[in-house]
Parts: sequence; C-alpha cells; structure tokens
Amino acid sequence: NPPKSAKGKQPMKMSLPEATSHLMQHPWSADVKNALLKRFHLRGFRSNQLEAINATLAGKDAFVLMPTGGGKSLCYQLPSIVSSGRTRGVTIVISPLLSLMEDQVAHLRQLKIQAYNINSECSPDERKFIFDTLKDRKVDEYLQLLYVTPEMLSKSQAMINHLHKLHNIRRLARIVIDEAHCVSQWGHDFRPDYKALGDVRRQFPGVPVMALTATATENVKVDVIHNLGMQGCEVFNQSFNRPNLTYEVLPKGNAKTVLESIVEIVSEKYRGQSGIIYCLSRQKCEDIAKKLQEEYKVMAHHYHAGMVPQEKRQVQREWQEGKYKVIVATIAFGMGIDKADVRFVIHHTIPKSLEGYYQETGRAGRDGKKSGCFMFYGYQDTTALKHMIDKGDGDYQQKQRQHQMLRNVVQFCENRSDCRRVQVLAYFNEHFSRENCKGCCDNCNSTSTFETRDFTEYANAAMAMVEQMQRGESVTVHQCIDVFRGAKRLKNSDWQYLDGYGVGEDLDRGDVERLFYRLLMEDGLKEENKMNRAGFATAYVGVGPRKRDFKSGNRKLKIQVRITPNAKRMQAKTATKPRSAKQRTGAAAATREYPMSTNVSSPVQAASR
Ligand code: ADP
Ligand code: MG
Ligand code: ZN
Repeated sequence: NPPKSAKGKQPMKMSLPEATSHLMQHPWSADVKNALLKRFHLRGFRSNQLEAINATLAGKDAFVLMPTGGGKSLCYQLPSIVSSGRTRGVTIVISPLLSLMEDQVAHLRQLKIQAYNINSECSPDERKFIFDTLKDRKVDEYLQLLYVTPEMLSKSQAMINHLHKLHNIRRLARIVIDEAHCVSQWGHDFRPDYKALGDVRRQFPGVPVMALTATATENVKVDVIHNLGMQGCEVFNQSFNRPNLTYEVLPKGNAKTVLESIVEIVSEKYRGQSGIIYCLSRQKCEDIAKKLQEEYKVMAHHYHAGMVPQEKRQVQREWQEGKYKVIVATIAFGMGIDKADVRFVIHHTIPKSLEGYYQETGRAGRDGKKSGCFMFYGYQDTTALKHMIDKGDGDYQQKQRQHQMLRNVVQFCENRSDCRRVQVLAYFNEHFSRENCKGCCDNCNSTSTFETRDFTEYANAAMAMVEQMQRGESVTVHQCIDVFRGAKRLKNSDWQYLDGYGVGEDLDRGDVERLFYRLLMEDGLKEENKMNRAGFATAYVGVGPRKRDFKSGNRKLKIQVRITPNAKRMQAKTATKPRSAKQRTGAAAATREYPMSTNVSSPVQAASR
C-alpha cells in the first residue's frame, strides 16, 4: 500500500500519491507511476520529485532546488521515458563532468533506458550513430536521454545543427541543465561554458527547460533563471537542512596535532567506515593519505586534479566499492559522486565559501544515517586562501566577491554560539529554529556561554602598538600578539616600554589572537610577505587602510568571548576596556598571586565553580 500523499517541506519523505490526488490526475500520470515502479524500481517519490516531473511533462520550465542527494536526477530521467506529456522525444541533459555522465549512463542502461553520452572523447562511430539517430522521427525508440557536455554545445556547430534537426521533427522533448549553479558567478563552481547555455536555450523557443541545483542562494537562483531565459518558470524549493549530519568546527593546531585529531576521527570514531578529507593543496592530499596509510594503516588514497583521468576514475571506483575507505582530496573530488554510506567529511582547511562547505559536507550521509562533518579552522589558512584569491585570475569584482565569501566562512568558524545549522541555512535564506538541531552541532552542544563584547578600544590600542613596533623593525603578527598580552619572556626586551605592552594581559590568548586576526580580515592591519634574513618569505604585519575607521568610531569590532566556564575571563570581567599602564601593574600582580580572588560575588563565576 503506498503511503498517503505527504506534502510539506520535509525532504527525503517517500510517497506515491493516490490516484485521486491532483498530482496524479494528468494524462501522463499512469505512465509516470508505471515508470517509477517498473523501470526505476522505486516505491515512491521524494519531496518535489513528482511536482517537478509534472511541470516538465506539462511543457513548463522548472527550476528545481534540492539538497545534494535529494534525488534531482529522477526529475528528468523519469520524464525521459514518458511519451504522453506535452512534448516527446529526446531529453538533452547538460552536465559538467564526464565521470558523472558516464556513471549515470551506465546506471540508466542497467534500467534498460536508452541513454548516451556525447562528448569530445566519443569515437567517430558513436558520434555518427548518435547524429544519425537524431534525424529519425522514431528517435525516441532508440535514444531517450542524451548527456552532453557544455563545451560540446558551445564549441561544436555540428551538435547544434543536429539539435535543430531534432527540434524540426518535433522530437526535442526538453533541455535539462544539471548543476545549474555553474551558470552563476555567485556559485561555488562557475563555468564559463555554462554561461553560454543561455544562447543555446534561446535557439529553441518553446522547448521546456529544467534547471537543477543544490545551490539555493537567492543570487544564484536569480542568475540562473535570468541567464537561461526561463520566464515564468515553476520553482521547486525545499528545506536544505540535513538532519542526520552533525557539524563541528575544530581548532587547527600544528600539522602533527591536526593529524592526530584526524586519526582519532578516522580510526576511532569512524573505524573502518568511509569518508572524505578535503585539503587545499595536492601536496597536502598526498602527504596525509600517505601518513594515514603508512603510520596508521588506514586504507586511504589521495585524489586531485593533477592525476590522469584514468587514475582518478579508478581511485573513485575503488573508493565507491569500499577498497579504499578514506579519500584525501582537493575539491576536484565530489561533484556527482553517488556513495550513500559516507560517514564523515573532514575539512583539513576551510573551504572558500559557505556554499562549498554545505556541498562538500553534503556528501556525507546520503543514506540518511548519522554522519559527522568536521572542519579544522586556523587563521593561517585564511592568509593562504586570501593570497590565492589575490593571485588567481578573475577581475577585481570577482575577487571582491571571493573575499566576501571567504569572510563569511571565517565568521561562521568564529561564531561559537549560534547553531551551525541556523548559520548555514540562513546563508541559503532559510530560517531554522535552533531547537530543531537537537544538539547536533558543536555550538548547540557546548556548555560554554559566550557574550559579544565591543573590542573596538582594544583594536585601536592594538593598531597603535603595531604601528609603533613596525617602525623599528619588521614584526610578525605573533610577535605583536605576545607583546599585547605582555608575555613574560619579553620583560627584558625594549618592547615592554611600548604603550601597547600588556594591554591585553587579562584576555584569553585565544581572544587576543581573534582580535588580531579580525583586524587583518577587516583591513585594520595588513600582512605583507617579505624575505627574511634567512631567505624565507615571511608575512610581516603593518597597519591597514581601515585603521582610521576604527579610530573615528565609524567601525566597531565585536568579538564573542567565552564567559563560562573560564576562570580567567571571569576575573577580567570588569576589564573589557583596556586599562592604563598604571592600573595595569597593580592589577596584574594581584591576578598572578590570587588567581580566583576577585569578583567572587559574580553570578557567572559562582555558577561555574
Ligand atoms: P542529487 O542529484 O539530488 O544529488 P541523485 O539524483 O543523485 O541526487 O539521487 C541520490 C540518491 O537517491 C540516488 O542513489 C538515487 O537512486 C536515490 N533516489 C532518488 N530518488 C529516489 C526515490 N524516490 N526513492 C528512493 N531513492 C531515490
Ligand atoms: Mg545530481
Ligand atoms: Zn545546532
């Protein structure tokens, strides 16, 4: 018995609506049901699948937003074998990755659906067969789905000509654009060839278009609909929450401690299970995979764009089959991989955007079972990523956008109080209530409480100090942090006479670091790479262009500080403003001798004891 129609925003709900439902009262409904059960061997539809199928069979344009693993493919694969809709013939699917298309075609062939690929790797014979078939009125008996790379459409006039022939015999059923966010520069994976698809689409007026993506930001949506000329299209949207994923941001120490934390996740928490570790560089992927293999006996392999296609395919296949458990990859790995039991995704380095984060973590837990997402965050990586943006190609505006996307990621990492889901989903314009997280992210799970404090005065003191210090010699941000905290070992250096020395001695080291990193992020400070005496490029710090804005009070710097449980913060509770040098000496001595002696009556402190 099929379950009753389940509407609403819940993803992953299965339902085969009854024949009385308005969703099943179309001329094609019997064929749709038959295809689902007999050809795809599935028992029901997930959210919005049937709605999208009906829209395209009715000849309408459809924009389908569905999280990764939500089941977008069925929305166009099923209609491709239904000939009772408004249009019939061949469904053309544009998809960005060869490996992805090959997997899908192989899968469809198993279901006895006539699917083909056409791309630059096709043999002349295959190409001839496909082109010949496209001229035949009975084409849909031999060919139902044709996967095409965007390059093929933008570069091969022959391809376009054959589509025109197909259109002229009224057998171009629909044009499907999978991973449609590639059209938009706001997406995390912009592809110039995709942008040209708008021109292609305009050559075939009246042919229904279906665009599908898991990227739901408003600007991507608007871009895609506009670029593809999809007027009056139906938009299918749903919640992007992935309830079975847990989210955690971890502090990133040195290479050794990061590896140890990774090993803990890989060989203890998720022993023998499959997962992905994302790294920034190819070298890092290889290093980590090697260490995991050799030192910890984990079945791991690297994957990155520097490998030859055949090797890539093999590694991906062996991982999907379970020979390798852990793939250590750059973001080159992932789009379209269809492995249901990925139990963890680790970000060794923060991704370039929150969308990237959502997509990459979204590869975990497609089977609906509990899976973990872990991200290591350390400021050093931000510097590297900023550098990559500046060095990369792309015009000024693109770079500004990329910097903004990176800032969003940093903000997300530094926000230790708001639920991770609330933060990620807000980025996709979706409201989410914290209670529904049910303690499945680090922030909801944390017993610490945080308070947002105005650190603008500290910021001004820090910038003034840096300005003084760098006049004497080149200094690194870490030297500045030590001076600002009044590190004891600097007592005998000239730095102890600076105004800024020890201004932040009552703050947590982490908070002082955050203060400096935020200033770097917000251009109150800036770093520049110079050769040091030993011939290594080192980042030295100086004041940045925004110093004035903080000084004038136009710009504030707010930082979340932990208020419980943390003894040091509590005694310093009165010290949100930097104290004068005189006040400082007295208080500092007291603090060191009687660590818990002040503010005993503070409710915060009393509670934490
Ligand atoms: P997406 O493209 O949205 O990331 P896919 O189309 O690759 O997702 O589907 C993800 C997985 O979900 C596939 O293994 C697919 O077979 C499965 N799936 C899709 N729709 C259904 C359904 N209605 N019932 C059961 N499984 C489904
Ligand atoms: Mg897909
Ligand atoms: Zn949460």
